[in-house]
Amino acid sequence: MEKDCIFCKIINGEIPSDFLYKNDTLVVFKDINPQAPVHLLIVPLKHIRSINDLMQEDKEIVSEMIMTAGEMAKKENIAESGYRLFFNVEKGGGQEVFHLHLHLVGGWK
Ligand code: 5GP
Ligand code: ZN
Repeated sequence: MEKDCIFCKIINGEIPSDFLYKNDTLVVFKDINPQAPVHLLIVPLKHIRSINDLMQEDKEIVSEMIMTAGEMAKKENIAESGYRLFFNVEKGGGQEVFHLHLHLVGGWK
């Protein structure tokens, strides 16, 4: 846990949030400023700063994030219509929260 990290605070309950899904590796919650009708964030419990900080030992976390994104798309009924998954990496890549997260967006008409 990082002291000043907003996503660590969400994960440890310091900032109350509704989790759409939670397991031993990650949580899923809605983006506060949605860019699409469905905009979820898949966030590992482990504080990893960005894709650039991934270690070999984090392979399973990343794989679980992607698998969970697929499951969440089904739950949100956007699997068939289609969706986007993306990581913003560092400031130049649009990253604003420096705790790894995968965006799931979709649900456009
Ligand atoms: P980034 O630009 O770092 O890839 O994405 C960060 C995302 O986190 C943004 O889409 C932003 O709207 C979202 N976000 C920032 N603060 C909060 C918060 O306190 N709660 C939730 N649910 N989302 C947040
Ligand atoms: Zn964090």
